[in-house]
Amino acid sequence: MIIVMAGATEGQVQAVVERIHKAGLHTHVSVGVARTVIGVVGDDRTKEMLRESLEVAPGVEKVVAILQPYKLVSREFIPHDTVVTVGGRAIGGTQVAIIAGPCSVESRAQILATADAVKAAGGAILRGGAFKPRTSPYAFQGLEEEGLRLLVEARERTGLPVVTEAMDAEQLDQVVRYADMVQIGARNMQNYPLLRAAGRQKKPVLLKRGVSATLEELLLAAEYILSEGNYQVVLCERGIRGINGNTRYTLDLSAVPVLKGLTHLPVIVDPSHGTGKWRYVGPMARAAVAAGADGLMIEVHPDPASALSDGPQSLNLDNFAALMASLRPLAGAIGRGM
Ligand code: PEP
Ligand code: MN
Repeated sequence: MIIVMAGATEGQVQAVVERIHKAGLHTHVSVGVARTVIGVVGDDRTKEMLRESLEVAPGVEKVVAILQPYKLVSREFIPHDTVVTVGGRAIGGTQVAIIAGPCSVESRAQILATADAVKAAGGAILRGGAFKPRTSPYAFQGLEEEGLRLLVEARERTGLPVVTEAMDAEQLDQVVRYADMVQIGARNMQNYPLLRAAGRQKKPVLLKRGVSATLEELLLAAEYILSEGNYQVVLCERGIRGINGNTRYTLDLSAVPVLKGLTHLPVIVDPSHGTGKWRYVGPMARAAVAAGADGLMIEVHPDPASALSDGPQSLNLDNFAALMASLRPLAGAIGRGM
């Protein structure tokens, strides 16, 4: 439910908020120029009981029910675009934020060389997995805490904030101690205890779409994080299970305009996992920017042929620099910077 207040005084807004809290419901207040919108979440019956008296409260223009199952993430609830801040860098707003780095942190030399190249080419945020969700239990599983330490070293060297994945609550505690942003991967998009735990800590969260998840399921997964109090969430389209054997997944670029209509949260695209082949990363990265993505996540490796994970989809450092150069005029053409 949202309460629209027009020309209301601060005291009138406060009085409405207090009434709602007394009833055991939660609020989110967005202050606009002419209107203040108070979003209310909690038990539906309690909301219904309060509704009539709120409708006639001083300063209230109208009370509107939110029809979608997700509330806090919806555009109705927060009409303006949310800008998520990661170690001082913005995701959302006018800039297109480029997150780049290796699939996995493999060694000091590998992550530092990649970090230098990402920085030099104008990337905003460094990525690198320390805890890797691998399909096979025999595949490289990540350097774990040592990987987190190396990411911190790369940040200290380049000034780039870092994002890395946590697969469970224990890893989350570790990741939060080292990283600037927590990634929740496709496989864990519906790990509800993990989503709640990510909502109870303060670092921004990068939530990747599950390989078979609808956009509504993705938004409801994000709702878990916001419902615990963390509104700093970025959604990531990374490809879904399709029938095209030529690419690893089917990158669903229509998710960008659809999600941006439904939610105020920033939306980024990962063409590396979305295609699984480095040759297709550039074209789909450019298409994603043209479609209005707020950022990209690109896998980059100094020597993709020797990568311990996702080598075939990783750009080498030169190809990454070339991609960045091709993206800049495109972003400019749609009124955005990079
Ligand atoms: C990754 O970013 O390296 C990753 C494992 O992504 P996803 O969860 O989208 O498969
Ligand atoms: Mn990967």
